[in-house]
Amino acid sequence: MTCPDGCGETLTVNLDSRVGPAWRRFERHGQVTVYPSVWRDNGCRAHFIVWKDHILWCGPTDEYGVNAPDERLLVEVYASLSQTAYEHYESLADRLDTIPWEVLWACRALVRRGSAQQGEAGMFRATAYPSPSSNRGSLDHYA
Ligand SMILES: [Zn+2]
Repeated sequence: MTCPDGCGETLTVNLDSRVGPAWRRFERHGQVTVYPSVWRDNGCRAHFIVWKDHILWCGPTDEYGVNAPDERLLVEVYASLSQTAYEHYESLADRLDTIPWEVLWACRALVRRGSAQQGEAGMFRATAYPSPSSNRGSLDHYA
């Protein structure tokens, strides 16, 4: 693919794990998502996510994480998180057969609602209360 920041360089995103570090490709309803992010360590140093055919830029403030996940997924993720042990959102995504980005965003939304806690990088667990569906009043925060 051509680098999306317009620098004109060509990026190679390897999807074949047999030939080195590989990205995972998810196709849903004809739209392509790639996981994890693409981060050039030379040249323009572009850092971005390909999510449902869109480019989401990754900045120092991680603003790509502000996407509001759908309520159904929030409830599903909350129900799948343990209250006693932290789990990485990638393995949670595998269990739910869901795109890892969306599980990460759901986990972050749960943290903002007080329904989950974040541990070490990418690790989350549920808190006992409140469950996400009992806290709809605070939705406007991050809609
Ligand atoms: Zn570039």
